[in-house]
Amino acid sequence: MAYTDYEPVIGLEIHVQLLTKTKIFCSCSTEFAGGDNENTCPVCIGLPGALPVLNANAVELGVKTGLALNCKINPLSVFARKNYFYPDLPKGYQISQYEEPVCGKGFIDIYIGETKKRIGITRAHLEEDAGKSSHAGDYTLVNLNRSSVPLLEIVSEPDIRSAEEAAAYARAVHSILLYTEVCDGNLEEGSMRCDCNVSVRKKGAEKFGTKVELKNINSFRFIEKAVIYEIERQIDCLETGEKIIQETRLYDADKNRTYSMRTKEEAHDYRYFPDPDLLQLHVTDAQVAKIKSTLPELPMARAERFQSEYKLPSYDAFVLTQSRTLAEYYEGVVKVCQNPKSASNWVMVELLRELNEAKLEVTESKVEPAHLGGLVQLIDKGTISGKIAKEVFAEMFKTGKTPEAIVKEKGLVQISDEGSLRTAIAEVIKQNPGQVEQYKSGKDKLFGFFVGQAMKVTKGQGNPELINKILKEELSK
Ligand code: ADP
Ligand code: ZN
Ligand code: MG
Repeated sequence: MAYTDYEPVIGLEIHVQLLTKTKIFCSCSTEFAGGDNENTCPVCIGLPGALPVLNANAVELGVKTGLALNCKINPLSVFARKNYFYPDLPKGYQISQYEEPVCGKGFIDIYIGETKKRIGITRAHLEEDAGKSSHAGDYTLVNLNRSSVPLLEIVSEPDIRSAEEAAAYARAVHSILLYTEVCDGNLEEGSMRCDCNVSVRKKGAEKFGTKVELKNINSFRFIEKAVIYEIERQIDCLETGEKIIQETRLYDADKNRTYSMRTKEEAHDYRYFPDPDLLQLHVTDAQVAKIKSTLPELPMARAERFQSEYKLPSYDAFVLTQSRTLAEYYEGVVKVCQNPKSASNWVMVELLRELNEAKLEVTESKVEPAHLGGLVQLIDKGTISGKIAKEVFAEMFKTGKTPEAIVKEKGLVQISDEGSLRTAIAEVIKQNPGQVEQYKSGKDKLFGFFVGQAMKVTKGQGNPELINKILKEELSK
């Protein structure tokens, strides 16, 4: 099978639930409600005659996201009715934006390994969420708590060329949403829903192939797996002379395959028209400027600054800036220890590993950034060895104590006193005459054995450089 003769073409549509207190067209709460249909009113259950009123905060968060995605903000946009029938859509239409969305063309940059790639954003538009159906036996229950919760749909250009890029793009958008605090970013709970449009074409072909939409994939790993599966399925179809049908498919993570849900509607099936109940949306330059001033330093800019300011490799800079809280933590460590690369290693390797194992977020870490900075300082000053530092760190992670306190309590200060190290090493040499013999007759590899023994005798507290130096002297006698 000639998979390499084909090129995948992918575009993502990401629905983002905006973190407003109230719904987009009524004053019902967006908070999680214990009871079904508790957060509802005549507007969001679609009673005839009830009139929608636009939530200004939803517009602000939409514009903020658009700015973070480098989108042109349209001074005038229009809400439209997207007509379709479904039990969880009581009005018989969804209020969305169609021809004139609030955010126009934009882009973001993603990293694939060391290579930067720009992915175009086609548009981002505001819309309302639908309710939720749950199917129970031979009947269906409808809960409208989610009906009219504000969403921003971010549509990418079909610029993505692999499953890896698709997942990287989704991760980059996720990171931006968390930096800007417009969304809680919870994929599993549906606060961010990714639809992947996938097609394949013969390499060198200009025309795109027929696309298939993979709906509502709820993890980055599944995005990658679903897209890989779908690319191969489409190539298999084409190679056996089958035609790709434009359709919506779902991903089954357990079986790692996609299956058909429905054939895709065309836009004209929805009979879009401007909603006569809502005014056109005007966003002024002054409003845009004000929102722009609230934007934080974004992940990509921060990663670039980490590379130039701290001379970090691009991989470190990327990992450390994925989350805003982690980036801030890292900068807190560097501020104290002034050793950016060492700080990066401690945060990326030791801290993230412990947090992962304990299933904790950075913000829940008992180790304060300044304390981790202090630990790096203790190593740099030669007070403790790197090996002992790991022990100290484990204790810091458990107790939240300062490294100085732990080193003192446990008597872990590194032995850099040459006299006592010489005594310890003399002992090691005396105890192992056989190995000394072998070493002297050319078995160089045994040097490590002596270092290990000396460390053992000094309970890991011997200064490794001094031990090396003294051992070399003694063994060449
Ligand atoms: P539709 O009208 O079916 O919603 P759009 O043209 O609006 O299609 O595109 C929806 C998404 O699908 C966008 O993210 C776009 O980048 C992507 N897309 C469009 N055409 C293709 C294609 N041939 N292959 C893969 N993705 C595509
Ligand atoms: Zn309501
Ligand atoms: Mg479309």
